[in-house]
Amino acid sequence: MRLFTLLMLLGLTATAQAQALVTGRAQSFHYSYEAVLAAANVAAQREYLGFIEDSALSQNWQLQERLDALLKPVVAQAQVLRPKLGTLKWRVLLVHDDAYTVASKPNGLITVSENYLLKRRFTDAELTFVLAHEVAHVASEHVREILSAVPRHYEPGLPISALRAAELLTEVAYMFEDMEPMYRNLELEADIIGLLIVRYLGIPGYRVLSAFDKMAEAEAGYRPVNDHDDALVRKQKLVRALPWLNAEVQLAVIP
Ligand SMILES: [Zn+2]
Repeated sequence: MRLFTLLMLLGLTATAQAQALVTGRAQSFHYSYEAVLAAANVAAQREYLGFIEDSALSQNWQLQERLDALLKPVVAQAQVLRPKLGTLKWRVLLVHDDAYTVASKPNGLITVSENYLLKRRFTDAELTFVLAHEVAHVASEHVREILSAVPRHYEPGLPISALRAAELLTEVAYMFEDMEPMYRNLELEADIIGLLIVRYLGIPGYRVLSAFDKMAEAEAGYRPVNDHDDALVRKQKLVRALPWLNAEVQLAVIP
C-alpha cells in the first residue's frame, strides 16, 4: 500500500497508451498528465526566478503585445482540436537569453528569446506558425512522451518522478542520444499540426513556410543541437507531408 501511494505521488502509473493528435501515431506514457503538468509548473517557476536573477526578462512591450495577440487565435483553434487545452494558462514569456530560442512547457508557457525573434524578422503569418508549432507540442503532449522515455535510461528499477526526469534530461542529456530520432519526429509532428492550425486560421501554407528560410539564414554556419533537423530539412519534410495533410487528415477531437 505504501509503495502504491509513493508511486501515485510520483505520478507513476502503469504505462498508458494513446494516439497522437491529428497524426494518430501511437504514444506511450509512463507519467500521468497531472504529474507532468505539476513538474512543468515547478520547472517554470524555477526558470522564472533564474530569469529575474539574471535580469533577463524583456521589456519590449510592443513585441510582447504582438506575441500575445498572435497567440490567442492559435490557442482558440488548438482548443477546437483538443478542448482540454482551455484549462491551461497560456502565455508568452519574452526573455533576453541567447541560450533560448522558442520553447513550450506542458502548462501552456511559451518562452521566447527576444534576440531570436529580432534576428529572424518573422511576418505575423510566420510568427503565428512559430507559436502554433509550440502550441502543437503542448496539444500533443510531447513533453509527457519525452519524459516517459527517460526512466529506462537511468537506474533501472528505481522510481523517478516526472520532475526528476526533466532535470535528468538537462543534466545528463548525453545519456539519451538514442532519443534524437524521436525528438526529430516530434518536431515534424509539431510542424504538421502547427501548419494545420494556421490553415484553419485562414493563413495559406506558402505564407508561413518562408519562416524556415529565415531560420536557415539566421542559423547558417552553425548547428547548436543534434536533436533538431536544420531548418531547410524541416521545411522539406513538412512539404513532403503536405499531400498526406491535404488528403488524409480527419479531425478527431481528443478530450
Ligand atoms: Zn519544436
